Amino acid sequence: MKMRKCTSCNSYTLQDKCPLCKGEVRVVFPAKYSPEDKYGRYRRILKKQAHKREKD
Ligand SMILES: [Zn+2]
Repeated sequence: MKMRKCTSCNSYTLQDKCPLCKGEVRVVFPAKYSPEDKYGRYRRILKKQAHKREKD
């Protein structure tokens, strides 16, 4: 589920169109889900898996 924000009235919605003004919405991401953080987390997972494989 992605949070969306209306480009017309700036209200937040989960729908494809703004329920208030029927305006266009764009997907917004919380700050903690920035691409950089996601990439870092992915790298950590890979590292963990590599380590596990080493052990086995
Ligand atoms: Zn709106």
